[in-house]
Amino acid sequence: MTGFHYHYHHHHGRIDEEYERKMPDRVLLSRLLKHVLPYRKKLAIVMTAIIATTITGLIQPKIMQIAIDEYIFQGNFEGLSSISLAFISLLVVNWISRYLQTYHLGWMGQNMLYEMRKKLFAHLQKLSFSFYDRSETGDIVSRVTNDTDSIGEMFVREFVDVISQSLLLVGVLIMMFWMSVPLALASMIVVPLVVVSALVFQSKFRAAYRATREKISGVTSRLQEGISGIREIQSFTREEDTKEDFRQANIENLQANLQATKVWGTFSPTVQMISATGMAVIYLYGGMLAINGVVTVGTLFAFIYYVRMFFRPIFTLTNFYNTVQSAFAAAERIFEIEDTIPQIKDESDAVELPPLKGDVKFEDVTFGYDPDHPVLYNISFRAQPKETVALAGPTGAGKSTIIKLLSRFYEQQSGTIEIDGYDIRRVTLGSIHRRMGIVLQETFLFSGTIKENIRYGKLEATDEEIMNAAKMIGAHDFIMQLPEGYNTEIGERGAGLSVGQKQLVSFARALLRDPAILILDEATSSIDPYTDLLIRRAMRILFKDRTSIIIAHRLSTIREANKILVIDDGRIVERGNHGDLMKKGGLYRHFYEMQFKEPVKAAAMSKFAPQIAQTGIAAKNPTMDPVDPKRDQSSQQDKPKR
Ligand code: ADP
Repeated sequence: MTGFHYHYHHHHGRIDEEYERKMPDRVLLSRLLKHVLPYRKKLAIVMTAIIATTITGLIQPKIMQIAIDEYIFQGNFEGLSSISLAFISLLVVNWISRYLQTYHLGWMGQNMLYEMRKKLFAHLQKLSFSFYDRSETGDIVSRVTNDTDSIGEMFVREFVDVISQSLLLVGVLIMMFWMSVPLALASMIVVPLVVVSALVFQSKFRAAYRATREKISGVTSRLQEGISGIREIQSFTREEDTKEDFRQANIENLQANLQATKVWGTFSPTVQMISATGMAVIYLYGGMLAINGVVTVGTLFAFIYYVRMFFRPIFTLTNFYNTVQSAFAAAERIFEIEDTIPQIKDESDAVELPPLKGDVKFEDVTFGYDPDHPVLYNISFRAQPKETVALAGPTGAGKSTIIKLLSRFYEQQSGTIEIDGYDIRRVTLGSIHRRMGIVLQETFLFSGTIKENIRYGKLEATDEEIMNAAKMIGAHDFIMQLPEGYNTEIGERGAGLSVGQKQLVSFARALLRDPAILILDEATSSIDPYTDLLIRRAMRILFKDRTSIIIAHRLSTIREANKILVIDDGRIVERGNHGDLMKKGGLYRHFYEMQFKEPVKAAAMSKFAPQIAQTGIAAKNPTMDPVDPKRDQSSQQDKPKR
């Protein structure tokens, strides 16, 4: 659907996460190393510690050999005591170097994670709406959390593990061949067995592990949908189905994990068995050599330790390729985000918009989200400073698209959009957004206090300014009635406030910013007559003394506008003020008569019964406009969001 997803392929019933990698290993490796580069000092510490750990580990069996051969068998107690002391000091050094290795490695991994997430988040904040149109939130979230995890943890740890294990392997080989060539050769007998079993298990384990990863993501995404969609789920009483879906995903996850446990469960006893077999060979053959006096008992003893040390690196090294491949897959998913260039970004010679008069001009603007399928055709209009322009028309006509272009969230394919004579493509995005106030239909309130949410419009505003804005808008009274007034915490997305109250807060936020150009997408949800009155009053205050471009749904708003643009099917089909358009007797008048003159009949014809009651209230109150049934109908059938 997006070219941005990775796909799970199913081969012969085996799950393969194999997603087609586009970046070659070399490129990925060098980019990853670039992330490690800032930590080269840490890396040097880690490497030194690794070498110290390896050497101190390697000497231990050798010391035991000396203790046995030269002191125990000779009955030299004094020598035995001093070599025991030496052994203990070696253990202490080993402890210290292990600690340093683990701590600094962890430090490096965590800091890399921190930096990567910081950079990714900053980048995500820059990406254009079009990126968010084509990606899924869950997928992006997973890339920033899980995939960075894989890299920070796995890449760093495994990579270093491989280095330390290779060192150990080489060290053990040297020690073994140095101490006794025949015994060393005998120890090699089981090596092919180790390698073969490691390879077999790894391919099994890899498949099982991948299955667990896929299944847990199924659980997470159902969980996410179950939580975000809870309102719809409960309204449509789909709890049972949702539960069943979740149960299914949960069971699949359980099964996948049990499978992985089974593989792991057979794996580790097998390793034990093979190494025990290796040990048996050493006991038998080594014992023979010792009896014949070819090697000492101490050497035999030390060998048993070396053989044990010998197997672990082999397992690690056989798995190295897989580990690196998964880290690479994760890296690529992250780099894909890093490489996404914001579609809309400042030109190198972009200038800052100066304080505005508020002159907006569209000239012959054509745009399609998909360039081959325009949704706006040759749009031309002008909003003079301080004018109120209403965009009206049916759902899907292209009204929101016009304001998205003006806010430069998207870029038109042809034609020009000018603000105060500046082509908006030639000015910085930041300055456009700073000079404009944008109030969307679905006000997004962040969790925090009311005060903080209003201040969002102007960070440096004082408490007094905030209160003044709220007073002017008419939000002060209800805010004061909240338990802690302006300091009342509101939940995620403004939970705890009514729809109307949320709108008033968002108006106060916009008024505080005091922009020369205000863009407003009027809310469609119907509210009680009192709040409705408040909101209408608030809008008049908001529109005063600034250029306002409104997607208008209420007839009252439309009627009061200086200029009405009737949009239909991506074109401006009529323009003028209310009087002009009524006289003209076109589409506007038709709508007006449908919705306004015969509200009761229109409402009765629509399937939405509640409107009839509201229309009744409106009819009794001459200052209120009747509720527009058309608009509520359209909000019910909300356009598909992509
Ligand atoms: P209105 O605001 O008048 O209801 P819109 O401007 O939202 O209409 O939509 C105009 C057309 O563009 C519709 O056909 C709609 O389906 C399409 N559209 C809106 N948003 C997107 C998007 N993000 N991606 C693709 N098509 C879109």
